[in-house]
Amino acid sequence: MKVGFIGLGAMGAPMARYVHNRGLLTAVGNRTQAKADALAAELDVRAARSAANFADCDVVTLCVSLDADVLENVAALAEVLKAGAVVVDHSTVAVETARRCAAMLATHNIGFIDAPVSGGVEGARNGKLSVMAGGDAEVLERARPAIESYAARISHMGGTGAGQATKAVNQVLVAGINEAVCEGLALGEKLGLDPERLLPTLLAGAANNWFLDKRGATMLRDEFAPGFKCAHMLKDLRIVQGIARDSGIRTAVIDQALADYAELIERGMGESDTSALIAIKRG
Ligand code: NAP
Repeated sequence: MKVGFIGLGAMGAPMARYVHNRGLLTAVGNRTQAKADALAAELDVRAARSAANFADCDVVTLCVSLDADVLENVAALAEVLKAGAVVVDHSTVAVETARRCAAMLATHNIGFIDAPVSGGVEGARNGKLSVMAGGDAEVLERARPAIESYAARISHMGGTGAGQATKAVNQVLVAGINEAVCEGLALGEKLGLDPERLLPTLLAGAANNWFLDKRGATMLRDEFAPGFKCAHMLKDLRIVQGIARDSGIRTAVIDQALADYAELIERGMGESDTSALIAIKRG
């Protein structure tokens, strides 16, 4: 099997390395060419300069930024991939974007799986991501060897778009947990509690969670290197809001998080990790 990987950022680069470890990686591509050139040289694979350089791939995985980036890449891949190939998109985008990608590729007999991931950059670096897949079960099986290389779990959630719908639910929980952790730790600071004792105490009880464990100590030191960028979180929350609005649920968590990340971006922190939210909570 030949696998191509497009989008070599905080998530994509470590994921591509796992595909390489399995002996499957053929080509890598990225908007900023230098990143693709560097990784290709290091792993001794092809540095793609255009979609045409993925023409011999059986599976092409994407982990790019926005809906427009996914659509642009899929449109180009639709013209060059062979019938029977599969495109897997790990970016977080709208359900509608997944449907448009699947339709574009289907006219060329190319399969599509929307497969957003959760587990953060740590999950990508450890090859232990939770993958939420939507699309045809048989198409997913064809792509499984590539996805398996960086997944702790692959969940087939349903037809096209079901992966992105699952990720939207995931992001409601992530946004709410971030709100609670940042607010709680900002309060801990104001109360003069010693972080060396506060964090292990919280982690040992019912308040334990991924974000507190991975970002608690760094946010208290004002270190906000991503991780997961505030700009990406705002993108995700806008997708979530679109879905939630039609559902009729009450959206207090989503609304608060949307306002907070918009404010962080206004303050120039769009490229900072989402743990920068503590800056707002400090008042
Ligand atoms: P990132 O660090 O900003 O990386 C995005 C990468 O995609 C960059 O290398 C970028 O190239 C490349 N790219 C963007 N548009 C492209 C295009 N049109 N064609 C080719 N390459 C393109 O972002 P990330 O944190 O890896 O996240 C990637 C996706 O995964 C996002 O949709 C995000 O929401 C999702 N996600 C992130 C996390 C996380 O914890 N970070 C977790 C789960 C899901 P440049 O070098 O030019 O910028």
